[in-house]
Amino acid sequence: MDVQRKLEILADAAKYDASCASSGTEKRDSSDGKGLGSTAPGIGICHSYAPDGRCISLLKVLLTNACNYDCLYCVNRTSSNVPRARFTVDEVVKLTIDFYRRNYIEGLFLSSGIIRSADYTMEQVVSVARKLREQHHFRGYIHLKTIPEADDALITEAGKYADRLSINIEVPEEASLAKLAPEKDVRAIRRTMGRLRLKLDETQEDQKTATKAKLPRFAPAGQSTQMIVGADAASDKTILDTSANLYSSYKLKRVYYSAFSPIPDASRALPLSAPPLVREHRLYQADWLMRFYGFDVGEIVDQAEDMLDMDPKLAWALRHRGRFPLDIASASREDLLRVPGFGTRAVDRIIASRRLTSIRVSDLARLHIPAKKALPFIVLSDHRPASHLLDDAKLAERFRPAAKQLGFGF
Ligand code: SF4
Repeated sequence: MDVQRKLEILADAAKYDASCASSGTEKRDSSDGKGLGSTAPGIGICHSYAPDGRCISLLKVLLTNACNYDCLYCVNRTSSNVPRARFTVDEVVKLTIDFYRRNYIEGLFLSSGIIRSADYTMEQVVSVARKLREQHHFRGYIHLKTIPEADDALITEAGKYADRLSINIEVPEEASLAKLAPEKDVRAIRRTMGRLRLKLDETQEDQKTATKAKLPRFAPAGQSTQMIVGADAASDKTILDTSANLYSSYKLKRVYYSAFSPIPDASRALPLSAPPLVREHRLYQADWLMRFYGFDVGEIVDQAEDMLDMDPKLAWALRHRGRFPLDIASASREDLLRVPGFGTRAVDRIIASRRLTSIRVSDLARLHIPAKKALPFIVLSDHRPASHLLDDAKLAERFRPAAKQLGFGF
């Protein structure tokens, strides 16, 4: 099979993994005339888009889509009737270098089905990164998918070459994982996440006393994971509880949420259709509220519903109308972050602006604040919402998208 055909199969097989954003790594470039590639944003990066709209600027492939495991939600499972292919280590290295030189990509996202054993597969994955870094002096971004059962030494080596390592938790609940991916062991997944966290913490400590020439290195962009949404019956609350636990226990940089995609010849244990993409979007909004806006899961999800049915910050504000309207001339940063429509940068701009002048309705556009969303909840120097507005039971309806008639599907 030629490399082009392998690429078609193995890039297609990798598209279901959403955990590949190239954020948060150290800055490197080749302006000293040595090495190849850079991680500086915006330089020579070509973006491509998956059919579902996700932006991909990495060469995102599997080393092989053959797999010993039979995870029901996965198109590459052992019982799946798909064409199989396998790259050699040198083929992936060459493709990465060629694509980088042609400005198609800014780096590599490499995952693999499990063949022979976890150690054998991980060694192959690490070999690609080792060759890129040591033989080709490649300084672009590398994200390696880590196999939880692999030997500790291999994972340490992976962290030496990769910017980011990730292990997919797959689904939020242990019972679902046992049903959908019987060969996977949630304890091994969490144990390896714990090992990665320890190594990340140790490296950070060692860097404080090391000289610049001997700075220890281990996955500078940290670790991430992915959860599939809608493959089991887990509620949004359950998913967010798991994320909160992962962030606090393993200091993950990101949890990615990937809406389940129906696959050919799927098991009857799986739903027939994908969840609405808006569910994935709401989970990302909630995830940001936890990481950057000081919200707990219990505040984000309506206890009665366990599901997010609208912008979660707006839903929280509507459940806590007594805390509004907020006078933005004097409110604390923490309170401003809870106003619908206020992003973290808008809050910083407000705090900087209000030292110099009083803020008026006409200033909202300059501060990048959507007036329609924010005005019922704030007091400005020339605006105070009508007292009955916040108590109006119909306020929530103003923010819901208009209902659409369903089509017949033909
Ligand atoms: S281990 Fe499971 S999820 Fe990963 S490639 Fe194999 S079947 Fe797919």
